[in-house]
Amino acid sequence: MGKRLENKVAIITGGASGIGEVTARLFAEQGALGVVIADIQEEKGQKVAASIGSQQCIFIKCDVTDEEQVKSLVESTVNIYGRLDIMFSNAGVLSQDKQYILDFNMKACEKLFSVNVHGTIACVKHAGRVMVESDTKGSIICTTSVAASAKAPPALIDYVMSKHAILGLVRCASKDLGEYGIRVNSVAPGPVATPMACIAYGKSVEEVEKHLESGFIFKGKENLKAKHVADAVLFLASDDSMFITGHNLGVDGGYVPFIKWLP
Ligand code: NAD
Repeated sequence: MGKRLENKVAIITGGASGIGEVTARLFAEQGALGVVIADIQEEKGQKVAASIGSQQCIFIKCDVTDEEQVKSLVESTVNIYGRLDIMFSNAGVLSQDKQYILDFNMKACEKLFSVNVHGTIACVKHAGRVMVESDTKGSIICTTSVAASAKAPPALIDYVMSKHAILGLVRCASKDLGEYGIRVNSVAPGPVATPMACIAYGKSVEEVEKHLESGFIFKGKENLKAKHVADAVLFLASDDSMFITGHNLGVDGGYVPFIKWLP
């Protein structure tokens, strides 16, 4: 089987860490012409890009909460590599504190929405524009979560709402962009022990994995890893998923948090 992203150029937001980093490495392995890591973590992003190789992968500092920076990220990518085929809009954050409705923190919610929701809108908008202008039949993938489903965990109301909002964006944008041959989908990971999860739980990778283990219906050889999510992103980015659009692809091992089926 040939490489699945030959001649394609991709942007990955949140590409300096976790799911985004692993996806950047996979895209490069799959022969992408260019992989642009876009993140606010400059040192980490530069390191990841350098370890992949400067011909194929570059880092561009971009805060997705600033629409001008997203527009410029997309323009720079086209100037450097000549095209844009894939936008993986993946940057996301959790609020520092838990969010319950009775003492909901509006300011924290606004901050979270500026990254998870407005940042994602800006990425889909500007990638969509450049793909339409250049008549590129591209693929846009956003990151939702198991939190964008009825299995959403409590105590994270703002995060859960933001991931439901992305789901709505994917469903609507897939219609707007479908007529131009551009696909818009999302990937919905279950819990993965990335830096985000480790900080949220205040635990190490091993401790987080142990803590989450019982929630997975599917008992595989290992726990859910960023690599499993990246494989699904690759599928949605490549021509293998040519007729799939407006879809939210769960990669969660049937995760059911906090449910005991039998006493
Ligand atoms: P991570 O913290 O390892 O990676 C997130 C990256 O986003 C970081 O590199 C961070 O610097 C970057 N980022 C944050 N704010 C940004 C901004 N304003 N502009 C640009 N980049 C910014 O976490 P991760 O787990 O790899 O998260 C990736 C995505 O997966 C997020 O959207 C997250 O909500 C989602 N997700 C994660 C899990 C999980 O359990 N880890 C589960 C479901 C969904």
